[in-house]
Amino acid sequence: MERIGIFGGTFNPPHIGHIHAVKQAIEALNLQKVFLVPDCIAPHKTMAPGSPTPEERLEMLKIAISGDPRLEACDIELKRGGVSYTADTVASLKERYPDSQLVLLMGTDMFSCFRQWRNWESIAETVVIGVMCRGGKGEEAAIQAAGQELEARGVRVEQIRNDAVTISSTQMRRLLAFRCGDDFLPAGVGDYIREKGLYDGGADWKNLPMEELERVVIRLLNPNRVAHVLGCRDTAVDLARCWGADVTDAARAGILHDITKAIDGPLQLTLCAAYGKILSDFSRRYPKTLHALTGSLVAERIFGENPAVVSAIRYHTTGRADMNTLEKIIYVADYMEPNRNFPGVERLRSLAYEDLTGALKLGLEMTMDHLKEQGSETSPESREALDFLDGYIPQI
Ligand code: FE
Ligand code: FE
Repeated sequence: MERIGIFGGTFNPPHIGHIHAVKQAIEALNLQKVFLVPDCIAPHKTMAPGSPTPEERLEMLKIAISGDPRLEACDIELKRGGVSYTADTVASLKERYPDSQLVLLMGTDMFSCFRQWRNWESIAETVVIGVMCRGGKGEEAAIQAAGQELEARGVRVEQIRNDAVTISSTQMRRLLAFRCGDDFLPAGVGDYIREKGLYDGGADWKNLPMEELERVVIRLLNPNRVAHVLGCRDTAVDLARCWGADVTDAARAGILHDITKAIDGPLQLTLCAAYGKILSDFSRRYPKTLHALTGSLVAERIFGENPAVVSAIRYHTTGRADMNTLEKIIYVADYMEPNRNFPGVERLRSLAYEDLTGALKLGLEMTMDHLKEQGSETSPESREALDFLDGYIPQI
């Protein structure tokens, strides 16, 4: 019997992770064809500027799968409009292909909550479920637990290993905003995105007025980081007033300092490669520390910030020897902004307005102690920063 896969998603944008996962499923589950079904985003839902229309998502998907006759983009949910329910899609496809076996492909997260889906029983009566497992911690156990319950009710579940690149569409959109990410897009999709000006890729963000800069930055952060970044901006401004630094530079560096923090470790390396940066051994071992470097590159190249702002962002996590006032301010503001809460933060807060260098030294020492406790390596720049301040005695 012919076996047809169904793979739904937003495809905003479609990336190589989607395509690779589907191709693996074709081989592993012996599918003759897979329908890729973009869901309809309800018209009333607010979308970020630069978001594609449903038609553009469909078009990108068509480009992404062109050249492989086993893959077909299916506009059934877009045509139906409104909220997309898989049960409706499965029922329509079964009507069209009554003699084929339908295999509904999904990731582990979706599978774990399958019984919360609308009309899940009718879906389960109609299809075999193909679960794509990444082999993550606890994933197999989760699949087994959910699978046993479903199989007890007569649902057929087949498992496939998915070792496609791990990248989410959210990460993908951030990379595109930073003018890279083509490596993760199927051939032709990047050109289409640029031609249509999607995902902020063509926006000019150089020298934005402060309010607009804030709006753009907030869009690119993880929501749980926004309060920290705003707190850092306010603290940096207060410290700049106290220490006679440029208040505008302090505000801009504060708001931008974690601009690439939402990019995960491996993708930090992608950003560095895209910007032509050769990395130290330490950075390769600890890619999570790279957001200070990549943040400074984005601040310079995408936002057109001045060298003082760029440098303050560059050294906000590690510090360096002989730091200037703005660099010290951003380092210390990042450490003590109002959302920070750890033993010693009050001392740091009062010291910052009495002796900025003393506060910097205290921050560096606390970081070193913390890293040593964790058994992590300390960065060469932090060690140089502390060596430079060797013998410096805080003023209070
Ligand atoms: Fe940071
Ligand atoms: Fe920060």
